[in-house]
Amino acid sequence: QVVTRFAPSPTGYLHIGGARTALFNWLYARANGGKFLLRIEDTDRARSTPEATAALIQGLEWLGLDYDGEIHSQFARADRHRAVANDMLSTGHAYKCFSTSEEIEAYRAQARQDNNPLPFQSPWRDADVDTHPDAPFVIRLKSPREGGVAIKDRVQKKVSWAATTFDDLIMLRSDGTPTYMLAVVVDDHDMGVTHIIRGDDHLINAGRQSLIYRAMGWDIPEFAHIPLIHGEDGKKLSKRHGATGVHEYAALGYMPEAMRNYLARLGWSHGNDELFTTQQAIEWFDFKGMGKSPSRLDFKKLDNVSAHHIKTVDDSTLLRDLQAYASEINAPLSAQQMDDLGRALSICKEKSRKLGDILDKAQFILSGYPLEIDEKSADMLNSVSISILSELTARLNNVTWTADAIFETAKDLAADQGIKLGAIGMPLKAALSGRANSPSGFGMMEVLGRDESLKRIGKAVK
Ligand code: GLU
Repeated sequence: QVVTRFAPSPTGYLHIGGARTALFNWLYARANGGKFLLRIEDTDRARSTPEATAALIQGLEWLGLDYDGEIHSQFARADRHRAVANDMLSTGHAYKCFSTSEEIEAYRAQARQDNNPLPFQSPWRDADVDTHPDAPFVIRLKSPREGGVAIKDRVQKKVSWAATTFDDLIMLRSDGTPTYMLAVVVDDHDMGVTHIIRGDDHLINAGRQSLIYRAMGWDIPEFAHIPLIHGEDGKKLSKRHGATGVHEYAALGYMPEAMRNYLARLGWSHGNDELFTTQQAIEWFDFKGMGKSPSRLDFKKLDNVSAHHIKTVDDSTLLRDLQAYASEINAPLSAQQMDDLGRALSICKEKSRKLGDILDKAQFILSGYPLEIDEKSADMLNSVSISILSELTARLNNVTWTADAIFETAKDLAADQGIKLGAIGMPLKAALSGRANSPSGFGMMEVLGRDESLKRIGKAVK
């Protein structure tokens, strides 16, 4: 059975790169009927606050990436990590190293002087136990000193390093705490992780980790190291490129559905498909589609993806996302407003790129009466347009109250008076909403109903 995992270290928020990593692992598990585990790598106690963990979980929840089973804490498993390190001591795959940091620094200084490329070579590696002092020590892995270290990677293919690249990595620190390098291997093994998909900044770690797997005689999971996400200028992603946290995208008004689509395309592709549902992504997801070159954040593309999902997602999902978004930006919607929004949804989502665009257009029904008239709308309501609107209302007396029927009436009026339809439509929008940015007047009239529409027009033409 396929088991993947997302193993973030708490940083205080869910980074967009981490979100993409989580998505890939989630998609691969869901594509293969497998499990997707969440393990918080909370060994850095200073950073691992409950708030930092909560922020990660919230980000995943928002993105709709559900994990299987409980949340695992790496820190809570320290005893097990220690046991494995001690196991390796007894099998001779690890040793106690008593070198002090001064001694290690002295080695490095000397190596620099001698142009010796070898990393620290501990004198304790082959020392007799009898010569061990009663002093603090770390436990190091006995790495191979000759030959090469190779891993197979589904994206990078075969990757290898000279064994001499690696020092004897520390697995237990002198205070007995396990290092990330040990903990991650033990956890992945114990949790039955079969596939590790993560950023290629971990590629060399995979080489080092493979040595621990080998020393323990454990199966090495399949690796897939994906290129990091870059900014629009091709440089490494940072704050100056704009939003880097998933919560920021939520606040910008992107739907989780759209973000899943967009993030899936950052480093993975399926033919020329740019726009797809999560269900399709699950059906299509594979290693073949993962690229080797870094992907770039592209907000224009994201806007297009977002517009597509606003157009195609079902109304109940869209309403739920709008409600969440309104709360996110501290303008929560009441039950009545949700109701009104539901009725106005089809006319407001037209040409909308983000959730905020929909709410903007829905102001004609969300923000109550009397209307605030913006400058453009006030200009629109002059003596000429007022007489046109009066004529329109007169003609609406016996018309069925649908957008189509009102539209036909307006078209006839325009033809009769030899004016453009816009000469009716624009002032109509101004009278009904007071805002230049609003849906079509005919649509708004249907949503508002006869009485409310005529009341607003009547007030405007007075
Ligand atoms: N905790 C590591 C990080 O946040 C990831 C470890 C892994 O995926 O192996 O970068």
